Amino acid sequence: MATTRIDLDGRPVKPITICMIGAGGFIGSHLCEKLMSETPHRVLALDVYNDKIKHLLEPESLPWATRIQFHRLNIKHDSRLEGLIKMADLTINLAAICTPADYNTRPLDTIYSNFIDALPVVKYCSENNRRLIHFSTCEVYGKTIQSFLPKDSPLRQDPAYYVLKEDTSPCIFGSIEKQRWSYACAKQLIERLIYAEGAENGLEFTIVRPFNWIGPRMDFIPGIDGPSEGVPRVLACFSNNLLRREPLKLVDGGKSQRTFVYIKDAIEAILLMIENPDRANGHIFNVGNPNNEVTVRQLAEMMTKVYTKVSGEPYLESPTIDVSSKEFYGEGYDDSDKRIPDMTIINKQLGWNPKTSLWDLLESTLTYQHRTYAEAIKKAMVKPTAS
Ligand code: NAD
Ligand code: UDP
Repeated sequence: MATTRIDLDGRPVKPITICMIGAGGFIGSHLCEKLMSETPHRVLALDVYNDKIKHLLEPESLPWATRIQFHRLNIKHDSRLEGLIKMADLTINLAAICTPADYNTRPLDTIYSNFIDALPVVKYCSENNRRLIHFSTCEVYGKTIQSFLPKDSPLRQDPAYYVLKEDTSPCIFGSIEKQRWSYACAKQLIERLIYAEGAENGLEFTIVRPFNWIGPRMDFIPGIDGPSEGVPRVLACFSNNLLRREPLKLVDGGKSQRTFVYIKDAIEAILLMIENPDRANGHIFNVGNPNNEVTVRQLAEMMTKVYTKVSGEPYLESPTIDVSSKEFYGEGYDDSDKRIPDMTIINKQLGWNPKTSLWDLLESTLTYQHRTYAEAIKKAMVKPTAS
């Protein structure tokens, strides 16, 4: 790393050590890649798995080999955790159960993972005066106010009723029996705890609320690099359908709306937070792309078109099929209706803006999915099943 990095206020950035918990996941793998290839920072990478960062750990001749160290551990029960947090200047906590199919079917694991297991991380950072960047979720906003207005209300057109703002929007969840909200509620409580540690004990923290970050290495393809019965997030579900040439399943008609941001754009925002602590500490940041809004149905249609282009395979005759949420996710599922991030705070503090259009990010992501999985899927599909 020859050139000195400069922060947003023109000061040189000192190399730091980062304890990254959940470094082996989707976001962690991209963040490690960025930190290794473009910065002089050191990473203590903690996770139960390391498949998604293997290319950064081996061979030992890689130029950053001395700057990344993998520690295989489960933060639920590992006495090494406090020592590793103390060794670092900054801790980034990404570890979580964060696939919606788990929220209503494994609510206890979801709540433990997103609240209880994060507690010691917050405590060790606070007690040892270490900075913390904690990954929360846009799901803490829950449903929009708009969704409760009468269908014919003109107020539905007013962004005040649907754009999600860190410092003013309420958090609106469904009833307790809608266990979908177990994740959002656990994330909200850990946010409140971190905020209180900041207010009462001076913890230096930043909270990140990702709005549907997508890209290569997200989740798994069922039956290939994950369980056949597993249900990943929508990008991997639809990729799996496209790879297997089966219709894309639209839950409850695919009417929910989402904004998708390219992982590489979002990682730029995190790097700005890492290198500009004076501008990031004490803040909660939405990180998303308000310009990339689609319904899930539109996403399915766009992914089908993009996949046809990048794979050269013919267009599917019936590209989508409707399924009920009960059938797809089971009892207790509920949905966020619409998620548009307000970008005022991240613009003002860090001058960050997403760049990549939905079409472009799907093109590069589906090119990766096709290159990585098409052969394996073909082989798996011709394999005779055991009798
Ligand atoms: P991911 O599942 O790919 O990564 C999470 C990683 O944490 C995994 O590698 C997992 O093995 C690890 N982990 C989980 N529990 C652990 C434990 N007890 N000990 C050690 N490691 C453990 O998910 P991701 O998409 O990279 O998300 C990272 C964070 O961002 C999560 O906190 C998630 O809630 C949040 N988030 C992500 C998105 C998104 O769009 N990807 C959206 C909202 C919130
Ligand atoms: N969804 C769908 N078909 C699928 C997977 C997901 O219609 O095969 C829908 C899901 O019901 C939700 C949206 O896609 O409305 C996004 O789901 P995802 O799992 O990515 O997470 P979320 O954005 O809800 O956190």
